[in-house]
Amino acid sequence: MTKATMVNVTNGDIPTHEIPRQNPCAQCGTPIAQPDWIEPGEGRVSYLWTCHACGYRFEAIAIFDEVPIAHPPLAA
Ligand SMILES: [Zn+2]
Repeated sequence: MTKATMVNVTNGDIPTHEIPRQNPCAQCGTPIAQPDWIEPGEGRVSYLWTCHACGYRFEAIAIFDEVPIAHPPLAA
């Protein structure tokens, strides 16, 4: 009996499992649940973290080896 398992995470947005969580504050070390802001770029994603304990803000950038094709050629 063959049964296909449908797992679709490529919905065009950032998969939730790729969002970093509990990142320690760069200033006081308090874990931050999730980034305030996510800015996808080519081959990288920028995360803006805000610490609610000390108010410190910092940016973390994740670099990916695979560069997604942002603008595929259009068929005429
Ligand atoms: Zn902090």
